[in-house]
Parts: sequence; structure tokens; C-alpha cells
Amino acid sequence: MTTKSWVSIPLDSPFPLQNLPYGAFRLPSGEVHLGVAIGEEILDLSALESAGVLASNYFGEPTLNRFLAAGRQIWSSTRQRLRQLLVDEPPRPEFLVRQSEVQLLLPVQVGDYTDFYSSREHATNVGTMLRGPENALMPNWLYLPVAYHGRASSVVVSGTDIHRPIGQSRPENSSEPIFGPSKSLDFELEMGAIVGVGNPLGQPIPIDRAEEHLFGLVLVNDWSARDIQAWEYQPLGPFLAKNFATSISPWVVPLEALEPFRCPGPKQDPQPLPYLRQQGNTTFDIHLEVRLNDTVICRSNFRHLYWSLRQQVAHHTSNGCPLRPGDLLASGTISGPTPDSYGCLLELTWRGTKPLTLADGQLRRFLENGDRVTMTAWCQGEGFRLGFGEVTGVVVGS
Ligand code: CA
Repeated sequence: MTTKSWVSIPLDSPFPLQNLPYGAFRLPSGEVHLGVAIGEEILDLSALESAGVLASNYFGEPTLNRFLAAGRQIWSSTRQRLRQLLVDEPPRPEFLVRQSEVQLLLPVQVGDYTDFYSSREHATNVGTMLRGPENALMPNWLYLPVAYHGRASSVVVSGTDIHRPIGQSRPENSSEPIFGPSKSLDFELEMGAIVGVGNPLGQPIPIDRAEEHLFGLVLVNDWSARDIQAWEYQPLGPFLAKNFATSISPWVVPLEALEPFRCPGPKQDPQPLPYLRQQGNTTFDIHLEVRLNDTVICRSNFRHLYWSLRQQVAHHTSNGCPLRPGDLLASGTISGPTPDSYGCLLELTWRGTKPLTLADGQLRRFLENGDRVTMTAWCQGEGFRLGFGEVTGVVVGS
């Protein structure tokens, strides 16, 4: 099998031929096109389709939603066709656009955004801080993938500035709340599944069909205001502490590209109820890293998550709730077992009691104005890395 493309791909590129992630971009002319990333280029699918080189009808759109709704067979045959174009057929440089010359946009129109809470380590750490180690996990946690419904309107693409939210909180040692800029702004390292084909109202998706409904994964930073969260979250869960901004990476890596990186998830004890039982390699080995300004402050892995993607989908739809193409199902903060693998500042600094020292000597408990948070993710292949690119954002004053 030939594995070399006519597109020149730097050895350290996150976007080798094995990847082919999908995204949306604005050309200097102002037109919005869809494409796949390859090396430092984008193969322009909108242009290929309108020239008749791609015999499809999905890419004359500003988002991937129409393609997402087409289903697994179409995703797979399109991927094969793109590989043909990039490897077997004569070079078509006229259909390449340099990534550095375009503006990357949100790849999908997110209809609904659900945020899970699927890391046992994260839930245990946060629960320990809030309720003590004996009551760290709530009694339901080991039986169902806990989640809340987020807000699709504030999902933004990587690179968007994050305004420090203003809100209500109650300072420690005070009985009265105050209203003002959050003093404990945080990030949350997450990944998000993009729903492809949905399900009709009233028809649950069984666990062994769940992955057929997912198109691919993106990186997610679920920005969080801890002081607002602590005051508002009971009894109905997060609200304004979360819905001011959620950043996602611009490239959607198809699940098909992740197949070689399948691995088992953590052992589940107690055994889940029958509708959540699963077997085999239920998750993916995806390395994760968070940088605060110039300092790497977290190294984690997607495989640490206790609840798998398929369990999240099966549970979400178990009551007949319909998922729709373009819905975003975020994983929840992905913390690992060691303190350097905790996926948010709340845990990394243990609620501000153990500040981090950055490379330039500055201390951090929570984010300050001007701070840049950058998350990256990759799967390690033999001689290549299959990357997700980055999700990054700078905090600006409110
Ligand atoms: Ca979250």
C-alpha cells in the first residue's frame, strides 16, 4: 500500500495522511469552505465538490452538519475517496489552501451541548474538597454517567478571547453574596464527541450501536468560574459559572482515524446495569497536555475516563432523548491518577492552597487576565503522531 501523499507533510505535523480531520475555514475572499487538514495545508472539499472531483453534496455549506447527518457509510467512503485523491491520483495543488492563510471557524453548528462528569479522579478530587474524602463520590456516580445540559450559544472556536465572567458569589467568611468579576477563573481539560446521526424522539440508542452515531472528537476547554459555581450550583447544578464560554478545537478527528488507538478503559466496579454493559476496547489512547502561558502544567490521557463514549450515548438516550447531528457531548474534566495529571487548576492547586510556579517564576492559583491556556492532544503511532491540533484562548478583563 502506498502511504505517501503528493502533499508535502512535515514529519512532526499533527495532520499526517492517517488523520484527515474535518474543519471549516474563511478564505481571504470572505467565503466559508469545508476541508480536511493535511500537513500545513487544507484540502478544500467545497472546491473539489463544486468542480465535480468529489461526487457528493455535503460540502457547499458553512458547517459539517449536513455531512454529519449522512452516516457512517458515507463518512467512510468519503475518507477512502480523499485518500485516493491524496495518494493515488495526480497532484491537484489548485485544491490546497494554506492553513496559515485562512481563518478557522467552528466546524459544526452545535445544536445542543451536554457536559458529562466522567473522570472518577476528577469527581473524587472535587468531591473531597467539597464534602471530605468519605463522601467524595455521590452514591449515583458509579452507576450512571452524570452530566448537565450546557449552552450551545457560547461554544466558540479555539483562539476566541475569553472574557472574565461577572457574577454572584459568596466570599469565604461572609454570609452575604457579592457581584463582580470572578476571582477564581479556571479551565477544564476535556474532549468532546460530535454527534453524527441522531435518534428519533422516544427511541433509545443501545450501547452496542452507540459509536455508530458519533462522527469524531475535538478538544474542549470548559472554562469555569469556581466562585460563581460554588455559590450557585445547588440544587440544580452548574449555570452561569459555565455558560459564558466553552472553546473547542477547529478540527474534528473522525472516530475512524482513531481505530488503531483503541484500548480498554478502567475496570468498572460495581458492574453497570445491563443497558450500560460493554466489552472490549471501549476507549482510545489519546495523550493530553495543558500549557499555561509557556509552562506545561498537566499531562493526562483520554483513557483514564471511567465512563466511555458509548456509555454516555446509551445513557443520554435511554429515556428517548433525541440527539441530533452536530450535538456536542463533552467528557468532563479528564484527570488522571497523579497530581501532575489533574485537568483543572481547582485540582492542580487544590482549591488555591498549593499555587503552581510557572516557568517565569510567577505563581498561579487561578487564571489572571492575559493568561493563555493551550491544550493539545495526540495519538502516538509508529513514526507519526495523529494530532488534534490545539484549543487555545486568552483571558481578557471583563
Ligand atoms: Ca466541565
